[in-house]
Amino acid sequence: MALDTDLVSALVRDVVDFPEEGVVFKDITPLLADEAAFAACVAALADAFAGAAVDKVVGIEARGFIVAAPVALRLGVGFVPVRKAGKLPWQVERESYTLEYGTGCLEIHSDALAAGERVLVVDDVLATGGTASAVTRLAGRLGSEVVGFGCILELGFLGGRARLDGLRIESLVRYP
Ligand code: AMP
Repeated sequence: MALDTDLVSALVRDVVDFPEEGVVFKDITPLLADEAAFAACVAALADAFAGAAVDKVVGIEARGFIVAAPVALRLGVGFVPVRKAGKLPWQVERESYTLEYGTGCLEIHSDALAAGERVLVVDDVLATGGTASAVTRLAGRLGSEVVGFGCILELGFLGGRARLDGLRIESLVRYP
């Protein structure tokens, strides 16, 4: 069944000036609370990459975990977390990044992906693409191949797609 993107949009709450002035924050908690809509989003993302021979789904802390883990299960593959600096207990690779409202540092366990593994990166929102491109670099450092990026919402006006350099991107709802 086709995803009802109007319903998905209606379940996303715009929070003006959060976490700082000038940012319109896309709050997906009403969407997550709607079992049918949440399940439809997970199915749509997983199905979009069903033919991509994905070996692992990488999710980005924190809201990305909520979306990425069920996508991994639906694809029948394992889940790998990328976390903010200092949270992962084992040896890590680290990348700095910028996002719509600040900068940060992301880490992945050094042994989380094997060389040659095909990786799908999943997050809730694609904004400037800084986060997704840092995760792509982390996965590349471990020798894996990022075959796509999936997200529920894409803020097209922030140009994230251009920053991801030809990577296959599937967003369920795109704000121009
Ligand atoms: P970016 O690196 O700029 O593409 O930002 C993407 C990351 O920041 C995602 O993990 C989002 O959860 C979060 N993010 C950035 N901008 C927004 C926004 N306007 N609303 C909700 N989340 C956002």
